[in-house]
Amino acid sequence: MFFCGGTVMAKIFHSCKKKSKIIAFTALVLLFFSVMLFCGFRPEKTASFFAMDTYCSVKVKGKNSADCVSEAEKLTRELDENILTRHNDFSFVSRLNSERKSVLDEKEKSRFETMLGLSRDSGGAFDFTLGALSDLWGFGEEPAVPDEKRISEVLGKTGFEKITLKGNEISFPQGIVIDMGAVGKGIALDEIKTVLDENKASSAVISIGGSILLYGKDDMTVGITDPTGKSQYMAVLIPGECCVSTSGSYERFFEQNGKKYHHILDPETGFPAENGLVSVTVCSESGLLSDALSTACFVLGKEKGMALLEKYGCEGVFIDGENGVSVTDGLKDRLEITDSRFVLRQV
Ligand code: AMP
Ligand code: MG
Repeated sequence: MFFCGGTVMAKIFHSCKKKSKIIAFTALVLLFFSVMLFCGFRPEKTASFFAMDTYCSVKVKGKNSADCVSEAEKLTRELDENILTRHNDFSFVSRLNSERKSVLDEKEKSRFETMLGLSRDSGGAFDFTLGALSDLWGFGEEPAVPDEKRISEVLGKTGFEKITLKGNEISFPQGIVIDMGAVGKGIALDEIKTVLDENKASSAVISIGGSILLYGKDDMTVGITDPTGKSQYMAVLIPGECCVSTSGSYERFFEQNGKKYHHILDPETGFPAENGLVSVTVCSESGLLSDALSTACFVLGKEKGMALLEKYGCEGVFIDGENGVSVTDGLKDRLEITDSRFVLRQV
């Protein structure tokens, strides 16, 4: 009886202990999640994919992170295939290039206004009408130095000043081939930013080739690619929440008779821009501007490029062929050169 009673008592005692253990465990689990939430824990999702002829990676934190990541990938692919590429026959830009006129929706109109404004402000260094010139150089297929006579023929038919934008109607003469190569990645970042805003994402890093969106209040670091190719990065930048785009002569080039020819063309000469720079990185709130300005500054060179950045309220890092690094005032305390072969230049 005692034993029995003892067993019953022990069982009751044991089940009490079990209950309190469960309660204690539940309390611990709840405490753990409260601490995690308090400390800013947010589910994180990542993805990497190939689009816009480059490698893309997406990392989003926040409760809708999975939706944001899949939407970012879908949006980048669709933007490329349906709107920006000139290498199929159904995208908006392909149809525009063959019909040479179109009625633009408000978003397209605003993009063209910005691009035309930058073409003017850069004195034509940035020119999105050079598709035929890029094709003549054969970038993307079998590149080779073209005949100079052909270059001047093509140049005679190109130029942003030949574009007419009246109200929502855009038109241009034969010979112009619109090329969004210098702005497409930035445009994609702007579109993805809208998705992140709508989903109230906590933070995100979106990388589309040489253009990166740093989203959210966390202080995030971006590496600046080593233009010499000897290491991965030569400096780190903590620019705050913005879009960061780099244009570099190392990104796409070929060699002929021992000389290197890259893909960023000087609209004045029709040849790859040559002013001593090997890369320009630009930070801006706008993806389109960061992308377009990095290309423009690469063509303009350091002095004129820095003046253009000032006019647009943007910051930048210019690297020259002698491993010299020049940085605008706003980034001076936010850049750390990590590779001792590179030296900071006085601006
Ligand atoms: P990015 O890598 O953003 O500097 O863009 C380079 C791409 O922009 C090239 O591959 C061309 O498609 C296009 N491009 C080349 N030169 C120019 C230029 N001077 N202005 C605008 N776009 C250009
Ligand atoms: Mg660009």
